[in-house]
Amino acid sequence: MSDFQLTYSTMFAPPRALHERFDAALARVRQRLGQAHGLFIDGAFVARAAALDKHNPARQSERLGRFAQASVDDVELAVAAARRALPAWRRTPWRERVALLRRAARLVDERLYEMAAIVSLEVGKTRMEALGEVAEVSAFFDIYARQMEENDGYDHALPDDPLPHMKSRNRSVMKPYGVWAVVAPFNFPFALAGGPTAAALVTGNTVVLKGSVETPWSGLLLAQCLKDAGLPDGAFNCLVGDGATVGEALIQHDGIGGVTFTGSYEVGMRILRAQVNRRWPRPCIAEMGGKNAAIVTARANLDAAAQGIVRSAFGMSGQKCSALSRVYVDRSVADALIERLRAAVGAIAVGEPQLESSWTGPVATRAAQLRHADCRRQLDGGGARIVAAGPLPADADAGFYCAPLVAEAPLDHPLWRKEMFAPLVMLGRVDGAEQAMAEANASDFGLTAGFFGAEDEVAWFLDHIEAGVTYVNRPLGATTGAWPGYQPFGGWKGSGSTGKALASFHYLPQYMREQSQTRI
Ligand code: GLU
Repeated sequence: MSDFQLTYSTMFAPPRALHERFDAALARVRQRLGQAHGLFIDGAFVARAAALDKHNPARQSERLGRFAQASVDDVELAVAAARRALPAWRRTPWRERVALLRRAARLVDERLYEMAAIVSLEVGKTRMEALGEVAEVSAFFDIYARQMEENDGYDHALPDDPLPHMKSRNRSVMKPYGVWAVVAPFNFPFALAGGPTAAALVTGNTVVLKGSVETPWSGLLLAQCLKDAGLPDGAFNCLVGDGATVGEALIQHDGIGGVTFTGSYEVGMRILRAQVNRRWPRPCIAEMGGKNAAIVTARANLDAAAQGIVRSAFGMSGQKCSALSRVYVDRSVADALIERLRAAVGAIAVGEPQLESSWTGPVATRAAQLRHADCRRQLDGGGARIVAAGPLPADADAGFYCAPLVAEAPLDHPLWRKEMFAPLVMLGRVDGAEQAMAEANASDFGLTAGFFGAEDEVAWFLDHIEAGVTYVNRPLGATTGAWPGYQPFGGWKGSGSTGKALASFHYLPQYMREQSQTRI
């Protein structure tokens, strides 16, 4: 079992060696903080005069480095480099592309601790979450490599035409679209850059990645792994820049063949429309927001429910698309559930995320902290009340900390509809599972959903819930914690554009177009 599998399977009792390795890597990373970092274009790290300092969201006084910011001209350079690299890369035999991806996966494994330390410092996620995120990238690489093999590179002979006068040999060949734009979010800056990039590369596309200005470092780590694995210059390029200018220039560019976007609903819908509103449409895989619900029925195991709710609402301080933000609990067990939640939330270890003792850290930005405060203010009216609150660390002012909150509210409170991306979960009392289901589905989103109930209620839940990722009676997470190869991850409705989940066997074909080949 590799270290990354260990990371995930031992979330509850990680081995000592894992902590020791993380601490050692963190110390090494901290020694070289403060350096200048470039963009990655055409196989080289290139400096730019425009650059921004990046600080640790848990400790604003800690400067991580100075990061070059891309301009619209850099989009031109990166797309041009990716176009130059395309002919050779798409003709590279698919088995060689698979071998390269596997080499990159092993480099990610080797650098697991150091890269996790950087991801943790950059986003403010705990060591376990950061290790999980980095490990997820090698899992994505391995899965996509295996899927290429299992599908013979998506190149298949079809039956010969049977009639003598039509006799022909036939094939179906899947071919890449060209240059693929990947727009990655701040909350999983390494995994949600690495997964789509791997899918695009292994299927023969070349890539221009645009990372978030909040998380400029992760994409460069990915670039280094791919370069060291032997990826040809130009096949992968990494820009960091503002969405409204650099992101917009990239997704509008005539030189790209398709887009994978992970981020907000508003931006995702805009990008989707931009891909259709052209001379011909381009594919766009958009993974958008969530307002994920869990249903707790009268016959649920309430200990499991409370654990699952706390993990999914407050893990990574609620900043996952999959985070739980709505709980619908049967009136008959609501007080008992709240009592358990109060105990569990009060015991959450909120603190500096790099420390072994912290279970969750700050939010990633001041804007998210302000949003949390604003939601809390909105709870003061409209019949809502905070029923459980977690602690703040002693040095809360050093970073963007928010206390984890459970708010009980009438079902028509506006916060039931607002995506918060912060540690706040709404709880509502319902009269039976039917009402819970109606409320859960009354959302424009449909990413993840959780259910706590009796065995004979499960089939009904799975049949009725409108969500792409479902979890039943799972204390490890009511709505979070998908792992490549085990839980395909993709949304329905306003949460995702294609209904084909990350790491599922339906995912890779989206990066290719079919050519039917008939020859005499
Ligand atoms: N894979 C993560 C999970 O299942 C969530 C990814 C995301 O937030 O986009 O919790």
